[in-house]
Amino acid sequence: MAHFSKLSSEQLTSCIAHLSTPLREQLTQFVLAADFEACLSKSQVDALLSHYPDNDTSAKHQLCRDLIPLAQSYSKAPISSFYVGAVAMGESGRIYFGANMEFKGMTLAQTVHAEQSVITNAWRHNETKLVMLAVSAPPCGHCRQFINELNGASDIDVLITEQPTTRFADILPMAFGPSDLGISDRLMNSPLNAISVESDDQFVKQTLQAAQQSYSPFSHSPSAIGLKTSQGTYFGRYAENCAYNPSLSPLQGALIALHLCGDDVTAIERAVLVEHQGSRVSQQKTTAQLLNLIAGASLETHLAK
Ligand SMILES: [Zn+2]
Repeated sequence: MAHFSKLSSEQLTSCIAHLSTPLREQLTQFVLAADFEACLSKSQVDALLSHYPDNDTSAKHQLCRDLIPLAQSYSKAPISSFYVGAVAMGESGRIYFGANMEFKGMTLAQTVHAEQSVITNAWRHNETKLVMLAVSAPPCGHCRQFINELNGASDIDVLITEQPTTRFADILPMAFGPSDLGISDRLMNSPLNAISVESDDQFVKQTLQAAQQSYSPFSHSPSAIGLKTSQGTYFGRYAENCAYNPSLSPLQGALIALHLCGDDVTAIERAVLVEHQGSRVSQQKTTAQLLNLIAGASLETHLAK
């Protein structure tokens, strides 16, 4: 996939000014690289960790906390001007960035929270479990419910700016989770959906693949969106939540990917929705309307069997 660095070197300098010189120099090299997609590989993370006195869990915690301002620089908050950044470390040792996104002229329900952004980013890189989550502000109730859907959620170390490290289970006591509805699947680690679409179009096939990876154990309505611009292609998988409302639509997922890769929503040239024929939940009408409002783009729908 083509790539575009969103941050200029000036923006980057200001959000990593608090780091030591060698750490800053190495991070600058990684972030400004042509293939950077808001994710640091394990070897890059290891290289950054070598600048900390003890290369252990506390160093990883500190690195995640130190990267929060960089994550915040991805924030797009034209309504609230409240810039939230989130940094997550996966079980693979990779680090992901995420930030809140607001859409002027839309309902607040379309807002993407930083935690949803970073989780979506990790999931699109096929991470199956998060071990640490650092955020610039305490996760709101909506996000706590969203995080609770994750594989291994209760053991995630939560690092909130200027707060001691805590475990996720401690910030969501008496939780309502998928198991309360008799579901054992978890977000980021669910089985593939056995759906198919008859098409020779490569982009439709890629969107189908994303729909196969989507998570909808409550409504059994797998779906995904593919967005194409002149610069790249971005896919969003539907991520359902046991409490329904915190679910993340496939369009939100695709817009997160597009934004974190430094692309522009107004540059969308093609939008494809793949959803299961006759599902109880349909993304089609809402997505078509939103896409038209956000990007002036029309939606192509392919029904899967
Ligand atoms: Zn939130």
